[in-house]
Amino acid sequence: MDNIRRRKSKAIKIGNVTVGGGAPISVQSMTKTDTRNVRATIRQIKELEEAGCEIVRVAVPDNEAAQALAKIKKSIKIPLVADIHFDYRLALEAIKAGVDGLRLNPGNIGEAAKVKKVALAAKERGVPIRIGVNAGSLPKTASKKPGTAERMVEAALGQVRLLESLDFDLIKISLKAFDVPTTIKAYRDIAEKVPYPLHIGITEAGTPRTGVIRSAVGIGTLLWLGIGDTIRVSLTAPPVEEVAAGYEILKSLDLRRRGPVLVSCPTCGRAEADVVKLAQEVEARLLKIDRPIKVAVMGCVVNGPGEAKDADVGIACGKGRGVIFKRGKKVAVVEEKDFLEALMREVEGI
Ligand code: SF4
Repeated sequence: MDNIRRRKSKAIKIGNVTVGGGAPISVQSMTKTDTRNVRATIRQIKELEEAGCEIVRVAVPDNEAAQALAKIKKSIKIPLVADIHFDYRLALEAIKAGVDGLRLNPGNIGEAAKVKKVALAAKERGVPIRIGVNAGSLPKTASKKPGTAERMVEAALGQVRLLESLDFDLIKISLKAFDVPTTIKAYRDIAEKVPYPLHIGITEAGTPRTGVIRSAVGIGTLLWLGIGDTIRVSLTAPPVEEVAAGYEILKSLDLRRRGPVLVSCPTCGRAEADVVKLAQEVEARLLKIDRPIKVAVMGCVVNGPGEAKDADVGIACGKGRGVIFKRGKKVAVVEEKDFLEALMREVEGI
């Protein structure tokens, strides 16, 4: 935290979650169910809530989906954001349904008059609007500026000016591209031009294998620069994985503390136990724990004890036996078959 000086942004409220103004950087996700399937969508949102998701967005492709919003909203605890493309009337329906936020793509909502209608209704109910620019769907009217980042910024600024002219300032902005340098450039640029909070992410980042890395590099770089008030990791995977990845990014920069941090060695020729298997088992068990504790799984007695001692709870595995440390003190020597249970007992007791 010492090294990151967060950009000062205006605070807005998405339901009960403050975004911007120095509030903790929130983690959000988007459902992957058909929004018209109310039960499946609620079920997925409940899973997200359990995973620590703080804001959830749902796609609203048609009127039936817009009509489902009120029922969904009633059954969930976290703020609900409606994602609207093409048809501004769906945004009006979503506002009526009581959503906590809207995401509009300026590239496809069309004329200013339509955006105006939405802004007026949103203002009446105090519903913030995210101007969500995507590199792949810039407005037809976008200028012919040479760089994608410049065109994205310009598209966002056009909408910002339009909303401001209506005296609407519950604004949040995102400028997402698949290309990480383009995304970073666009956010750095807009961060200097407007005071609004920024929702950051890398769009269509891919499957977890590559998407987590692309997102960590893109989101992580921006966060390190002090930019970003809420994050979404986009992955071709169940949305709970997006939330887990989001927290890992924030935790690795010490911007949020949620849940355990697992330190595990990469193993090498000195390893005297199956560290990969043990670390995976420990990781799975840690998913159920909310407390911010550091757990270490180390493969040998060379570097193992140092890291294991540094953690809240750690194990340094030796040949057939391992040493368990708790807050720097050796608390037990256990047999290999008991590594997992003995370690988890100490974790649970903390
Ligand atoms: S802790 Fe031991 S086994 Fe693990 S990588 Fe380091 S030296 Fe190798």
